[in-house]
Amino acid sequence: RAKAGGKGMLHFYEEEMDRQAQARRATEMDLRKAIQSNELAVYFQPLLNLKSLTVTTCEALVRWPHPTRGMISPAEFIPIAEETGLIIELGRQVIVKACTACAAWPGDVRVAVNLSSIQFERDDVVALVEDALAASGLAPDRLELEITETLLLKDSDGILKVLQQLRSMGVRIALDDFGTGYSSLSYLHKFPLQKVKIDRSFLKNIETDQRSVKLLHGVSRLGAELGLTVVVEGVETHAQMRIVDQPGAVTEIQGFILSPAVPDKDLQSLLGRNNQAVMKKVA
Ligand code: C2E
Ligand code: MG
Ligand code: MG
Ligand code: MG
Repeated sequence: RAKAGGKGMLHFYEEEMDRQAQARRATEMDLRKAIQSNELAVYFQPLLNLKSLTVTTCEALVRWPHPTRGMISPAEFIPIAEETGLIIELGRQVIVKACTACAAWPGDVRVAVNLSSIQFERDDVVALVEDALAASGLAPDRLELEITETLLLKDSDGILKVLQQLRSMGVRIALDDFGTGYSSLSYLHKFPLQKVKIDRSFLKNIETDQRSVKLLHGVSRLGAELGLTVVVEGVETHAQMRIVDQPGAVTEIQGFILSPAVPDKDLQSLLGRNNQAVMKKVA
């Protein structure tokens, strides 16, 4: 009996795995179609500079308005796009849309675009960036590229050359989700970075645990000491804000406390002349 039960379980798992594989293939097919017909949308989330109380940068975040499933999160489809190579075409569309939108914003606002390490592996990122800048007419110093620790771990000499080339074009480089990967502090000075974005997991427990606060402040100060713009991601509450906002370390925050990612047209009021009241409420 036990044996039969075991077989039954195995069967159950196999069926479940089949179902998952099928769902994934369906998502992949839908995603391919969405990319081919240019249906993916790009939303923007503002970053607030705590000194000037102005929005310095808006991060481009891809959105997939699915015909039957509603808005699908990039956390769900970016991994699929990476595995299937669809990330190359997706990445092209996002960077062109992001640069085009930014070209119409006030001149002191930059756009930040996320790049996958697969793009560095399989695409010519320098050409990708040159094309997007040419197509949009955006000045290179208004484009910031967000890369992750995983990328820096890979073939770091080749990556270093590409990043230096981008840097010499005037494009800025930010290290995203800092502290989530196999973080090595040596990355921070080996690569030509201007900004480090401390992952929102660092905010966990800061309201109750003094050691979490020390860790956040320590990492922030290190970034600042190295001359980087330090961003804390995922700030949601005023309680968090009071802990994050330490003089001299954290320069910018990004989070729901200011705004989630919104369509380009909804950014205009935030970027307009009357934004100071909004910013003061946050900081
Ligand atoms: P990320 O680059 O770290 O982007 C920040 C994510 O945190 C976004 O999720 C944003 O909506 C979310 N977030 C911002 N503030 C808060 C907050 O206060 N609370 C909470 N709970 N979340 C907050 P989103 O848009 O779902 O994107 C998830 C990830 O997908 C991104 O993480 C990025 O790694 C990836 N991604 C998004 N768009 C692209 C893209 O165009 N290309 C590539 N390669 N990856 C992308
Ligand atoms: Mg990012
Ligand atoms: Mg991030
Ligand atoms: Mg993050």
